[in-house]
Amino acid sequence: MLKENKREEITKNIEKREALVEQVADGIWRIGVELPQNPLRELNSYLIKGKENGRDLLIDTGFRREECREALFAGLRALGSSPERLDILLTHLHSDHTGLAREAAGTDSHIYISGTDLAILKDGFTPERPLRLAEQFRAGGFPEDEMKKTQALNPAVRYKLDQVDDRFVPIEAGWKYTVGDYTLEMISVPGHTPGNAMFWAKKQGIMFTGDHILFDISPNITSWLESEDSLGDYLDSLRLARKYPVRLALPGHRKTGDYAARIEALLAHHERRLAETEALLAEHPGMTAYETAGKMRWKIRAASWEEFPPSQKWFAVGECMAHLDYLRLRGRIRREMDGEVWRWFTVTAKYC
Ligand SMILES: [Zn+2]
Repeated sequence: MLKENKREEITKNIEKREALVEQVADGIWRIGVELPQNPLRELNSYLIKGKENGRDLLIDTGFRREECREALFAGLRALGSSPERLDILLTHLHSDHTGLAREAAGTDSHIYISGTDLAILKDGFTPERPLRLAEQFRAGGFPEDEMKKTQALNPAVRYKLDQVDDRFVPIEAGWKYTVGDYTLEMISVPGHTPGNAMFWAKKQGIMFTGDHILFDISPNITSWLESEDSLGDYLDSLRLARKYPVRLALPGHRKTGDYAARIEALLAHHERRLAETEALLAEHPGMTAYETAGKMRWKIRAASWEEFPPSQKWFAVGECMAHLDYLRLRGRIRREMDGEVWRWFTVTAKYC
């Protein structure tokens, strides 16, 4: 909980701030939560209003930083909600979704998140996890000096939740919650994070897609300590998502779009990316993940791989490792340990 003087100061800022809210369906509003200096631009926080005297449900919250706090609370105020009325639902553990959950929740609120992601959130507060993560990236050929410059390894990453308390409730696939005219069901879609979830309002045909399906950017799929095959998980989860007759998709960032068409486009995108990775290894056998990532194409404004900011390199290498693991687990490429790093090779067909 916030100290009283801090709370007062925030209230003043919120009063000054213009709320960015828009109604997206009957009883559902989007609160645009600005993400400063972030290519995602905004987090879409959704408020579903409950019946009179009932509780409201808030889906995802924004980073734990001032700009997000002001935007979220201004939105809640404009919509006539407040922490005491709220339960909170989190699509996955990333800080831009979970950062403000504790502040937006009242004393009696519940904060629901998949059990898998909750366990990783808790593990993230231990000093061991960052060390294991560093080991994984070191084996991927990530240079030590650049590793020091990334935020990813800092356990006190600035904008994430400061702790997990007993208002957090782990949930699993099939879990249901009713608010207003909506009954939401949790659909488990691992990949973007190991416990990633979507929430399905069957009667209305509305899917809260979180970061599983985004429309004008592709969700980041990285290698996880908790999953051997996160890209395989993600592609399976896209195929699962296909089965829902979605009329309105409400994503975690940016605008909505054609749900079914977007799933096909994302599947095709990763097929191309996998073929590209395999072709690069055929051309340059023995590269590390770091070197392979340096030759892949990225949507970033940097003249060369050398000029990528270390934090962006970190995302790129993580994504590259997920693609390499996918190909390795399906026998399309192999790796060899060379000192402390893995080097990657294509598997040449023996009988051709
Ligand atoms: Zn995310």
